[in-house]
Amino acid sequence: MAIARRIGGTVLVAAAVFAASYGLSRLGAFEWPRRYDPLALPDLTDRPGIFTGWQMKLVDADAANCVFALSRAGVPAQLKPSHGGGSCVVEGAIDLARLSVARLTPEETRCAMAARLYMWERHVLQPAAQRLFNEPVAEILHFGSYSCRTKRRRSSMSEHATANAFDISGFKLRSGRIVSVKTDWSKATDAGKFLFIARDGLCEWFNLTLSPDYNADHEDHFHADMGWRRSCR
Ligand SMILES: [Zn+2]
Repeated sequence: MAIARRIGGTVLVAAAVFAASYGLSRLGAFEWPRRYDPLALPDLTDRPGIFTGWQMKLVDADAANCVFALSRAGVPAQLKPSHGGGSCVVEGAIDLARLSVARLTPEETRCAMAARLYMWERHVLQPAAQRLFNEPVAEILHFGSYSCRTKRRRSSMSEHATANAFDISGFKLRSGRIVSVKTDWSKATDAGKFLFIARDGLCEWFNLTLSPDYNADHEDHFHADMGWRRSCR
């Protein structure tokens, strides 16, 4: 009990010190490191830290925040006017043509999707490609984001209907080598290993990730979205 009380006391003191100094920094007394500021927009180029998940929610919630964060990371991002009707309204979207290193065939997607793809590409994909292939991913191959349609064999709308999803089919390395979900998935090769890392990385950054492990509809791509459903399959 005495130990529990002592730990509780230490946590309270630490919280009070954090709150007091954070308050002083908000008043302009000194510069609080952005990395440790839960109310700051994330530096997407920075290695993810304990507050990154929280900071990314500010990016998800406001397309202007998102465009600012992406632009600061060097990704050309311009907000497009809302369009579409019924269940297929797209809001807060940009045309995404590149991430930190890899480019992609330009695709309209919600800015929040683009920012999360950036985090995944920069902090998961590129390091893994360097480790396994000793070269970067030059291009992300995809089947697109926006498509006004229902989920396959169901009546409910797909997250693709609002550009809130992205389908990734493979990767082209700088040497031209292709790593493909359709042909390399679950193989005991570096390409197979890379795809597992890529899929698990999507799970870290997106609410829902579906791979060939999920069903035959996904045998040739990874689906990632920011809808309400949470799963990593
Ligand atoms: Zn999809």
